Formats: sequence, C-alpha cells, structure tokens
Amino acid sequence: MIKINENFQKLQASYLFSDIAKRVAAYEQANPQKKIIKLGIGDVTRALPDACVKAFHAAVDEMAADASFRGYGPEQGYGFLREAIAKNDFQARGANIDADEVFVSDGAKCDTGNFQELFSTDIRVAVPDPVYPVYVDTNVMAGRTDTWSDGRYQGLVYLESTKENGFVPDLPQESVDLIYLCFPNNPTGATATREQLRQWVDYARENKALILFDAAYEAFIQDPDLPRSIFEIEGAREVAVEFRSFSKNAGFTGTRCAYTVVPKDCMAYTSSGEAVAVHALWNRRHTTKFNSVSYPVQRAAEAVFSEQGREQIKALVAYYMDNARYIREHMSKLGYSCIGGENSPYIWIEGGMGSWEFFDLLLNEAGVVCTPGAGFGKCGEGYIRISAFNSAEKVKDAMARIEQALR
Ligand code: PLP
Repeated sequence: MIKINENFQKLQASYLFSDIAKRVAAYEQANPQKKIIKLGIGDVTRALPDACVKAFHAAVDEMAADASFRGYGPEQGYGFLREAIAKNDFQARGANIDADEVFVSDGAKCDTGNFQELFSTDIRVAVPDPVYPVYVDTNVMAGRTDTWSDGRYQGLVYLESTKENGFVPDLPQESVDLIYLCFPNNPTGATATREQLRQWVDYARENKALILFDAAYEAFIQDPDLPRSIFEIEGAREVAVEFRSFSKNAGFTGTRCAYTVVPKDCMAYTSSGEAVAVHALWNRRHTTKFNSVSYPVQRAAEAVFSEQGREQIKALVAYYMDNARYIREHMSKLGYSCIGGENSPYIWIEGGMGSWEFFDLLLNEAGVVCTPGAGFGKCGEGYIRISAFNSAEKVKDAMARIEQALR
C-alpha cells in the first residue's frame, strides 16, 4: 500500500489569495462599471530591461546553430554568471564571496524551500511572524512541526515582528538551530541595520546555528548605510547562507533566475558533533536534483551586470520606489501608521481595525485591492500590505480613490 507523507496533512490550506479573489469577484459583480486597482500582489509589472532582452535573443540565436548550441550546462550555473554575481553583488561591496560559492537556480522560492532538506528533522527552527509562507510550509512538510493550533504550528519558534520591536525580531530566548530572516522584509518592508544583523550573526556563532538570509528585495535598499548582504557582517561566512533573485530587481518573475550563496566556511554538525561543510551538502543536493537554468536565461541574467543593464535596473527599481514613496506618503497623510516603502516595495499599514475589515473597506469604498496582513501570520493581524508593483498611473489613481473614500 502506498502511504502518504502525513506531514502534508498538517498543512493549513492557504485561503489568503483565494479569499481575496472571491471578495474581488463579488465586488466586481456588484459594481460592474467600477474598475478595480490591484495593489495586492508581489509580482512585477514592467518589461524586462532591454539589455537582458538583447542578451536573451542573442543566446537563443546561439542555440539555433550547431556550432554554438549548448546542451546541459554546469548544475551550479555557468561560470560567466557566477563570476559576475560574486564580483558585482559581493566583492564590490567588500563581502568576500567567491564564484564557486554561488549556486544559480530557477528561483529563491525553490531555494528557500529546499535548503532545509540538508538538516535533521529534530532541529529547532525559528521563523519570522509575519512570514513568507514558504519557510514555514516546507518545514511542516519535512516533519519538523507538530499540529496546527491557535494559528501556529506547534514546535516552531516564531520570531515576532511587531511595532514594539520596529518589525525586526528580537533574539529568541531559547536556543534555535535554523533561523530564517528576510530583509528587506516581505511583507512588512522593514530593513535590518548592520548592528541588528551583527547580533543575529553573533547569536548563530554562539549557538552553532545557521541563518538562512533571504535578500530577494535587496535591490530596493536606498539607504547607503543599510547592509545589502548578510556577508557584509563580520563572521557571517561561518553561519549564514543568502538567497537572492533576479525576479524583483530585473523583472525575472516569469523568466526565472535566482541564486544562493553558500560560503565554504559554513558548517553544520553530525549528531556526534563533527563539522560538515554546508557547501558540500548543498552542492551534492543541487547537482543530484537540479540541472540548472537554461543558457539563454543565464545570459539574460548576466546582462543585469553590464553597464546598460545596471542603468536599466536602477531605473526600474526607481520607478517602483517612486510608487512606494507615493503610497507611503498618501497613507501617512490619511493618518495611518506605515512602515516599509522606503527601502522596499512593500508598505505595511496599520489600519486600526482587523486586517480583513481594512481590506474590505479599501475594496468596497475605493475599489483597491491590498493584502490582509493576517494572511502572513498572527502578528500581521491589524495590518495590510500594499505593493508598489504596478504602474505609476494606477498607483496615483488608487491613492486618489482611497483619499476620497476615507478622508
Ligand atoms: N523570497 C521572498 C521573500 C519573496 O517575497 C519571493 C517572491 O515573492 C521570493 C523569495 C521568490 O522569489 P523567486 O521569484 O526568485 O522564486
């Protein structure tokens, strides 16, 4: 008899986006003349940068001729891309990362989800609350939690991000082994200072823990004093892995390219306390289960680091950040307390009412769709997330509607 992995039955169905879709459909049916503006999703809306498109086309042409055709590439990614990443994203910022510590992949979603496979099922896992749900659900699937009760999985340590701690969680009281951190944060838009990250790195070193640092929104950091990588923090090479993506900075959400940095100094331990290089484990896992990203996509990603690519990406990020600023300014003017939107494309807004109540208010009174914070965890209750990923025209229109409706 074929038996299932019963951990899957512990998973809570995520009703967040289907509930949103249902409410939007009901609104549209009742108000067929009114056009909805969607500021709820985390997907980009603008075309790929021209430099990437040109590189993409050129690589497709290479694939069309026998002489330049390429089949399977290195599982970890082509050297040209790994080197461009190490040089531009890390070495240029004083972070000591080598090309062979970079693993190219088809998404930070898969990498953040898969990385936990390297570790024992009896470790203590700490996740932020509110949280990007992938960190939680993949640990549930792996059997690292007990059942769901009172809005949380028993057995996980929740790192609460609240107004009181500025949405950067405090160090846990208990000892944990695997720590998920995400800055700039989805959904709160909060960022962590160098000093705050240093505390986490020190904690991990003291506890022989590992930090999985999700920097998918790094490109949106505007403040030059904020760290863009955890590897800017001394000692992080021993205790941290970093996830990055071309999805949000270069519009690759549909094209798919990301990467994970695993420093060779990073260690995990056998039950008898023997140190094992996490790099070797991930390399084994990656080469066994993954055949890398298509050649044209890797060439398109490489173009992000060309002179033109860099400028085009800067303009793309600036476009979304203008939206973010506009949203934050307008919601603040209406008296709402906002966080994010200064170094991230998300604005986290306290509504002074339940998340879904606030969602319904914006939908029914202004025809604007946001994301209720409660969908990201207990600490998200009372908040909504507004995304800057839309056209400037729609963002302006949405804010004018909200202002008119809520003033
Ligand atoms: N990490 C965070 C925090 C995200 O919000 C997202 C996407 O929304 C991802 C990772 C996924 O990125 P990718 O498109 O590279 O899979």
